[in-house]
Amino acid sequence: MTEPRTLSVLGATGSVGASTLDLVRRQSGAWRIVALTAHSNAIELARLAHEFSAEIAVVADEARLPELREALAGTGVEAAGGPAALVEAAARGADVTVAAIVGCAGLAPTMAAIEQGGVIALANKEALVSAGEVMTAAVARHGATLLPVDSEHNAIFQCLQGNDAQHVHWITLTASGGPFRDWSWEQLTAATPAQAIKHPNWDMGAKISVDSATMFNKGLELIEAHHLFPVGLDRLRIIVHPQSIVHSMVEYRDGSTLAQLGPSDMRVPIASALAWPQRMDTPCEPLDLAAIGELTFRSTDEERFPATRLAREAAQEGGGIPAVLNAANEVAVAAFLDGQISFTRIAAQVEHVLNAYVPPPPGCLSDVLAVDSEARARARQLMETA
Ligand code: NAD
Ligand code: MG
Repeated sequence: MTEPRTLSVLGATGSVGASTLDLVRRQSGAWRIVALTAHSNAIELARLAHEFSAEIAVVADEARLPELREALAGTGVEAAGGPAALVEAAARGADVTVAAIVGCAGLAPTMAAIEQGGVIALANKEALVSAGEVMTAAVARHGATLLPVDSEHNAIFQCLQGNDAQHVHWITLTASGGPFRDWSWEQLTAATPAQAIKHPNWDMGAKISVDSATMFNKGLELIEAHHLFPVGLDRLRIIVHPQSIVHSMVEYRDGSTLAQLGPSDMRVPIASALAWPQRMDTPCEPLDLAAIGELTFRSTDEERFPATRLAREAAQEGGGIPAVLNAANEVAVAAFLDGQISFTRIAAQVEHVLNAYVPPPPGCLSDVLAVDSEARARARQLMETA
């Protein structure tokens, strides 16, 4: 029997974390769990850490550590709390680290895992968007392997295998268009958090669901693709594909377009990253194209959904600008979910912060974190004065 591979899941209690652990549960004996982490749900984290016999469980919110300790007493699983403990746990290294924390909060632990040189299965797009070259340079320096879990990027990664990247003509990211793709501007101004988090095709965490509704998700993904597949920004484009079956496409200069298709189930791209360069079985519903009937495509509307324009401009400017875009968006999404601002204010507020704050290009992790924190402060200040 082959030795189990070691695995850490950063953000184990979330949607991507749950899908990852569902696959691991079905491959008993194939994995040994090093670290599982969560923000504040100590009880759920303890349950998972016990079930998977993790070496260590970390709750980022230190106030929940006593609860975690109590829940794990006598199980043999170490308990730790706070942001520094999160980074230390990630730095224990594992053959594969699934980076599934939401937001820039996942950046420092993801960088700590990268420094150990293993495979990083990256779902946490905000970390790559914010850190950009700081992250890709660390990956190269430490001999780590960055495998995209985001379904579009995983699709592109698969379509590039065995092909000559020099011959790429276009990389086309597909977008479902979110729950509001057919809404008028007037309707958008009145959209509620409950409506925004109800995605038509995917079952995801609240933040990415709102991003999907504003199209900031696709904007962040454009920047993510720019770092993962350096073919040039002008070769990256976005197309709306409401069925979310074609997860993205690569068109070569000889006229061949390769696409990856699959059900709207994150276990497909997660399995691809976990098993890479091999394949593994998943319990996902097979694709029934005859039942789906039609795959349709249309262009994006940047009048109603300015997020992709803002993201493209931020990627063009580079340096610390994408980190500002990301931070301003995180603050705006939280404010929208909290009922403080309207849906259409999200993009307006991000644009405002981008116009007001042009940081110097970050050269290291602490520079990125400083830009992130300054952009957040400015975004919050803007809301207070608006
Ligand atoms: P989620 O909200 O369901 O889960 C987020 C996880 O991160 C939880 O375990 C939570 O405890 C943890 N977390 C949250 N804030 C934290 C903090 N401040 N410090 C430490 N941990 C914290 O989110 P999700 O939908 O699983 O998304 C996770 C990441 O994957 C996001 O970056 C998202 O964009 C990306 N992603 C998700 C999907 C999806 O289908 N859900 C698809 C593609 C990409
Ligand atoms: Mg995606």
